[in-house]
Amino acid sequence: PPATPPPGDDALTLDRAHVFHSWSAQGALAPLTIAGGLGCEVWDDAGRRYLDFSSQLVNINIGHQHPRVVAAITEQAGLLTTIAPGHAHLARGRAAQRITQHAPDGMNKVFFTNGGADANENAIRMARLHTGRDKIVSGYRSYHGNTGAAVVATGDWRRVPNEYASGHVHAFTPYLYRSDFWAQDEAQECERALAHLHRVLQCEGPSSVAAILLETIPGTAGVLTPPPGYLAGVRELADRYGILIILDEVMVGFGRTGQWFAFDGFDVRPDLVSFAKGVNSGYVPAGGVIISDEIAATFDERVFPGGLTYSGHPLAMAAIVGTLDAMADEGIVENARRVGAEAIGPGLAALAEKHPSIGEVRGLGVFWALELVRDRETREPVSPQSMVIVRDGCLARGLLPFTADNRIHVVPPCVVTTDEVATALAVYDEVLTTLEESL
Ligand code: PLP
Repeated sequence: PPATPPPGDDALTLDRAHVFHSWSAQGALAPLTIAGGLGCEVWDDAGRRYLDFSSQLVNINIGHQHPRVVAAITEQAGLLTTIAPGHAHLARGRAAQRITQHAPDGMNKVFFTNGGADANENAIRMARLHTGRDKIVSGYRSYHGNTGAAVVATGDWRRVPNEYASGHVHAFTPYLYRSDFWAQDEAQECERALAHLHRVLQCEGPSSVAAILLETIPGTAGVLTPPPGYLAGVRELADRYGILIILDEVMVGFGRTGQWFAFDGFDVRPDLVSFAKGVNSGYVPAGGVIISDEIAATFDERVFPGGLTYSGHPLAMAAIVGTLDAMADEGIVENARRVGAEAIGPGLAALAEKHPSIGEVRGLGVFWALELVRDRETREPVSPQSMVIVRDGCLARGLLPFTADNRIHVVPPCVVTTDEVATALAVYDEVLTTLEESL
């Protein structure tokens, strides 16, 4: 066992004294201390174990400490830890090759970034330079990252205090359960969401719109799988007006939905794809943009005015190669699809039969949401205090949940087993009973 640290040299004391946290008022924070992890489990300093059904920030697709990824990083660290982006470097080339192997035909180049926000930042920049147009249309129910343009392209509350970039317009995207279009079924939601998007484009002046930027399946906003035909309809509108489509696959890419890319499940062809998280599960920070041949050709003669010191960082690239090779060899994407279809989906549906607090279950692969309501008829969301009961109840039972607004997102690593799903379902079951007693 590790030696007891000297007084004050423990994770929580140091954190509270010196670490400034994201998206929070700093005063009353009491972060959970995590000391280690393996597969779908993490543990704290005292050795208390938690089943990680959050995948942290929905990024540990391959599970914690996958030995092949750790080995790939270690091996690269012994060879060369860092090199400027201007050099050709084997791990970088291999990472780009592996990524484009899973991308649609005609998308053969990758620009590497440090994470998802700067992936969107650079995708937006490419779209503007390629089209010579300024405006970016994105969804109100979205998150695209915490940098200049990405946070203003974001639709949720995080945009509002950060609105310093210009040229961003928002539209409502499909969400049948809380329809912005008074729709009764998916076909209506689809048709009306497309008509609304069309009106937004017309009113903004379609010839001023560079790109429509969408999360293929909005994630943090609630796992909002678009209805059949929606993304194909967006493509049609985009083609009609010479507008590009950027699909943000930061949360959904690399196995989360049981496909390599979420858009593989839809009839849509993107022009630019932003990615991060699952590409190497965040073992070393990395993100990037997959670029269509046509857009890449724009920058054959013309300078691309963007770059980052750590673009294509060797340790991050080795982690990508290790991750994508292990995912392919071990059938990890197929596992996500199978466990989703056979265990998570049916298990959550059974919980919804039993628990009136579940208003809707939706998702696929290892990407699900439970919408918690006070009343199924009115669909009134449960309160923030209720969500504290849910979160604390899960933690007390050894489950690390992902909660957002009035929802539990059921988002374990893609390597999750049916036994682990059964354990988690039993925890959700007990916690929902406690919640319902409190309502
Ligand atoms: N896009 C989506 C869909 C995301 O979910 C996130 C992060 O949660 C981002 C972009 C931003 O990625 P990062 O935090 O790596 O900058």
